[in-house]
Amino acid sequence: MTRKAEPFRIKMVEPIRMISREERIEKLKEAGYNPFLIKSEDVYIDLLTDSGTGAMSDQQWSALMLGDEAYAGSKSFYKVKEAVKDIFNYDYVIPTHQGRGAEQVLFPHIMGKKGQFVLGNMHFDTTMAHIELNGMIPVNLVIEDAFDTQKEHPFKGNFDLEKLENFIVEKGVENIAFIIVTVTCNSAGGQPVSMENVRGVRKIADKYGLKINIDSARYAENAYFIKKREAGYANKSIKEIIREMYSMGDFLTMSAKKDAIVNMGGMIAIKNDAELYQAAATSCVPMEGFVTYGGLSGRDMEALAVGLQEGLDVEYLESRIGQVEYLGEELRKRGIPIQWPVGGHAVFVDAGKFLPHIPADQFPAQALCNELYIEAGVRPVEVGSLLLGRDPQTGEQKKADVDFMRLTIPRRVYTDRHIDVVVEALAKIWERRNQIKGLEFTYEPKVLRHFLCRLKPIED
Ligand SMILES: *Cc1c(COP(=O)(O)O)cnc(C)c1O
Repeated sequence: MTRKAEPFRIKMVEPIRMISREERIEKLKEAGYNPFLIKSEDVYIDLLTDSGTGAMSDQQWSALMLGDEAYAGSKSFYKVKEAVKDIFNYDYVIPTHQGRGAEQVLFPHIMGKKGQFVLGNMHFDTTMAHIELNGMIPVNLVIEDAFDTQKEHPFKGNFDLEKLENFIVEKGVENIAFIIVTVTCNSAGGQPVSMENVRGVRKIADKYGLKINIDSARYAENAYFIKKREAGYANKSIKEIIREMYSMGDFLTMSAKKDAIVNMGGMIAIKNDAELYQAAATSCVPMEGFVTYGGLSGRDMEALAVGLQEGLDVEYLESRIGQVEYLGEELRKRGIPIQWPVGGHAVFVDAGKFLPHIPADQFPAQALCNELYIEAGVRPVEVGSLLLGRDPQTGEQKKADVDFMRLTIPRRVYTDRHIDVVVEALAKIWERRNQIKGLEFTYEPKVLRHFLCRLKPIED
């Protein structure tokens, strides 16, 4: 079936340009072969992230003008609170400057003692960092199929429920802090979690008296996948599906820079635990700001209140996820190895299979990112061995399960013609893949090295 056209008209534009191939080669060299260090004005199509890069609607832009820059009791805050109650049916909301702000404020209050485990399908990296900073141990319990890039499975973000329960029994429930369900599962490639699976997690949580946090950056995309793929949900609205899912959680942390389509923002929401709300509110004040703004201005909260609802529009979700699928299908037709089925926000190219002559410790996915920048000014991001880093004990380079190049699609920003440019460029690179060289460090920072490291191609 042919896809419908985008359910919007473009009435404001930001010009972009492609600099010459010679300039791109020069810029990449200046950036130490690390796309994070390229200026965005030198990028033609930016697929680094879908975080804070979405296009706001006319409704959101006009809502900005309604923002009351009030500190206490801001009316803009109450609009967010109302939207959260309407969509998730949670009573308490604390806005934060972004998702990691929510983690920082909430986590110390839902943790028990140091050394406890926090069980997730697959934790996002900042989430993992906040768990560790609180002296806890993050554990990933996603199904095995998540690691098989070619295997058809409608919900590769699912928990392995057997593993989850066994882990609790083995370690003893007193050693478990809480459970985090990440929807969609970002670190597993934006793969969705089924309603049935969340129901299973809730059952286990109830059996052992554990709380569930839902890491909610892509709350709407996950609901769309349930509507499309899970029996019994085809005729339910996105909001009904979200309400059902969140009835099984206890609280949520959210980066609003994804599905809520704002450039900055996040939140904590709590179903009904007044005591937990009091504790988190007390922490919010010194960390993020007073509880009715949490690091956001009134206008940010206005745009957020509108964006939370716009993200639920099924026509928009169909176009959004349809575009990601389109990119994935076009690459597959050309024999390019990708994670299949594609997730909600990105296509993951298997760079280890694309460039089998480059070993993991020479970063094949980073080499492929660089080649795509040279070919067409497109900026993807490496999600592989470079990101993973070294073993802290031995200093040895770890090998990623799969060395991925992620092509992340911002919301409502690029047309299918932009996507075609990416496809054509990758097809050209596929033809000359044998000539691409691995990389070595010229500068390697000790922590989070992928952001600031510098590299150079290995000459033979
Ligand atoms: C982006 C993201 C976060 C962190 O949010 P920021 O807004 O980037 O701080 C946490 N969890 C998930 C699943 C995310 O995708």
